[in-house]
Amino acid sequence: MRHPLCERLRDELDELSSRKLLKAEREIASPQSAHINLRAVGERDILNMCANNYLGLSNHQTLVQAAHVGLDRYGFGMSSVRFICGTHSVHRALETRVSDYVRTEDTILFGSCFDANAGLFEAILDAGDAVISDSLNHASIIDGIRLCKAERFRYANNDMDELDRALREARHCRTVLVVTDGVFSMDGIAANLPGICNLAKRHGALVMVDDSHAVGFIGPGGRGTPALHGLEDQVDILTGTLGKALGGASGGYVSGRHEIIAWLRQRARPYLFSNSLMPALCEASLAAIDLAERADDLRQNLTARTYQLRKGLSDLGFQVSGSDHPIVPVITGNAAIAVQIADFLAARDILAVPFSYPVVPQGAARIRMQVSAAHSAEDIERVLAAFQSVRSSI
Ligand SMILES: *Cc1c(COP(=O)(O)O)cnc(C)c1O
Repeated sequence: MRHPLCERLRDELDELSSRKLLKAEREIASPQSAHINLRAVGERDILNMCANNYLGLSNHQTLVQAAHVGLDRYGFGMSSVRFICGTHSVHRALETRVSDYVRTEDTILFGSCFDANAGLFEAILDAGDAVISDSLNHASIIDGIRLCKAERFRYANNDMDELDRALREARHCRTVLVVTDGVFSMDGIAANLPGICNLAKRHGALVMVDDSHAVGFIGPGGRGTPALHGLEDQVDILTGTLGKALGGASGGYVSGRHEIIAWLRQRARPYLFSNSLMPALCEASLAAIDLAERADDLRQNLTARTYQLRKGLSDLGFQVSGSDHPIVPVITGNAAIAVQIADFLAARDILAVPFSYPVVPQGAARIRMQVSAAHSAEDIERVLAAFQSVRSSI
């Protein structure tokens, strides 16, 4: 007989399935790219509108070759955490390179940005401290904050009045940390960093920004949202991922004040108790940052294609969230309509994902597309044509 736990999970899975809420995984049978093959349909060319492949580097030959060189030079794995015998020269080289790139004092690598956020707060904040978090912050920030003993405050997305109120309420705390995503991933909107830094400064609070959906393609040289606003020296802690624009393999980091990074090497649990990044991945990530830093042409195409898609959808009468980020959410409100549109696009070999409650608020269902520098004007036209015909069929 199955254990009752398995019976219960089976029931809950069936329930999700009957409500069409089960996340099915499509198997990709080609490299990740603007155009892919899916195992289910074979060699057919599918236009991919939902990867975090903002600069189109996921299968860039420079990165692939750098990874090969790394494999030949350093072998496959480290079989150790960093502080035992898992620190390779290439780890330090990448940490230094990230610091140079985003203009911070030092950087510590993690297995992922999820791990970076999971390890950060508990290590630096304690009872008597406070953390003030935007309500739309990423799940890894929410979980990381749950793990720490600091007093918790939350403000409505980008609401500077609520942030100001929280900062006043937290006045009695030793250390106050304001935490925000640089770009909110479900809406494609940027944090009000000038407002946040201004208020934090006034109240003597620290600022932490998770720039996962910005590093590599936002701001001068793709240095991210602090650089976009010239606020590099006012952001105390910057986290980010290697798993999106910067080649998209895996890995994350915390970057910032020297003492904070030094302390994380002593205390951050996902750093102390999880294996080091594969050296070949670090070698390729070095190449990714070199490429990204000089990739004004890619960023220009990304901006042009993003404008084309956003403007085209608005002209067709669709409600598009945000103003200029390559995350392009088309708000349908109704969850069934979002699914219907995604199915309609899929039937035309265009991949876009519907999101509904609880990932986004009730009644705010949407199709989220993500533009890549690897998309052509024709690709975007194809998407717009599909949206034009879906309008008359729903
Ligand atoms: C994607 C993302 C993460 C997680 O990054 P991984 O490196 O994939 O773990 C963390 N924070 C934000 C804001 C993200 O968008």
